[in-house]
Amino acid sequence: MRIAVVGGSLAGLFTATLLRQHGHDVMVYERSVHGLGGRGAGLLGKRETFAILRASGCEHVARVGVVARERVVFEGADSSVVTPMPLQMQLSWDSIHHVFREHMADGAYLLDRKVEHLHEEADRVVIRFANGSEATADLVVGADGIASITRRAVDGPSTTNAYAGYVGWRGLLSELALPGHAAGELLDRFAYFRLPHSHVIGFLVPGPNGETEAGHRRYNWVWYRHAAGPGARDEVLTDRAGLVHPYSLPPGALSDHARENLVDDARRLLPRAFAAAIAATAHPFVQGIFDYESERMVSRRIALVGDAAFVVRPHTGMGIAKAAADAMALQRHLASAPVEDALRAYGHERTQAGKAIAASGRELGNDLM
Ligand SMILES: Cc1cc2nc3c(=O)[nH]c(=O)nc-3n(C[C@H](O)[C@H](O)[C@H](O)COP(=O)(O)OP(=O)(O)OC[C@H]3O[C@@H](n4cnc5c(N)ncnc54)[C@H](O)[C@@H]3O)c2cc1C
Repeated sequence: MRIAVVGGSLAGLFTATLLRQHGHDVMVYERSVHGLGGRGAGLLGKRETFAILRASGCEHVARVGVVARERVVFEGADSSVVTPMPLQMQLSWDSIHHVFREHMADGAYLLDRKVEHLHEEADRVVIRFANGSEATADLVVGADGIASITRRAVDGPSTTNAYAGYVGWRGLLSELALPGHAAGELLDRFAYFRLPHSHVIGFLVPGPNGETEAGHRRYNWVWYRHAAGPGARDEVLTDRAGLVHPYSLPPGALSDHARENLVDDARRLLPRAFAAAIAATAHPFVQGIFDYESERMVSRRIALVGDAAFVVRPHTGMGIAKAAADAMALQRHLASAPVEDALRAYGHERTQAGKAIAASGRELGNDLM
């Protein structure tokens, strides 16, 4: 089949790679003009993520990870409890994106192709781009994330994400930028601190080019904070030029004033080690936390994967694993039935899975609201 994948981040690349391997003619259309490399942070390796790395011949990326063997839970400004934990592999979004992007021939992955509209006919889909051009495909895979256009064609016109009332402040910095006391407490451990309506976690991830040796890795932290009430979310998501972003602010967009407030709050509220990590982060970024659950993941010729179908809370650690499981399930069903039957079976299987992950995420995020 001629398959068009809308969105060239991880869900799109996972699906495109598997479907190409199984003989389909796949094109990826990504709206970003310059590509997505260098923009990701860290993630926890999950079973489904390792499975897709194996299925697509990218096992080596699973070795480009940093392992934590201990958990440190802070109990106040300076006291903490350290316990052993099952080995946990921590990966970098960039390494995974890079290796899957390399899998796609340049002509099959087009940047600056913002899809504006989909028109589904009996046996094909017409795709219209923002620049006015069009393409057709036998099947469209909607991998266009939280602000999905393809979702509208499948799940109905009212497909808004529900804001959960809190945000995740995030940062990524060289491990060498941590002052000595913070490095001693945080490095090689999964770190956690809980306070009312808030918690912060931190762990090491590989360096920008997949480096895993000590001295070359990066420290990844996330501080979940309540931001509800009139205007609170817009205030957090306002960039240095005064523009309000709908979902997140990328690194570099935060105003100096907002960064100073974040660093001051961290000094006041967090254990010394986390406050030092936040103060040492040149470009913190922030992500609003939203929920979205599809009632329908498929139509006759369109299937949703990843965040286009279900936006789940990051505490599940399942955003990327879920995208991987969607891609593997779609490929498996397409290999065993005619397209419309395959999509129905895929939708049935993955809607149930998405709802279960979304429910567990809401439960984990309850104390943050
Ligand atoms: C740059 C970037 C960095 C990330 N870093 C991390 C991280 O470090 N850790 C983590 O856990 N998660 C990260 N995520 C989120 C993570 O990728 C997703 O939660 C999960 O993998 C599901 O991915 P997705 O492909 O469904 O959605 P997304 O990753 O959000 O990707 C959606 C893609 O679709 C494109 N798109 C949107 N609309 C259109 C359109 N109309 N036409 C064409 N293209 C469109 C977007 O530009 C984007 O590339 C990151 C996402 C991005 C985009």
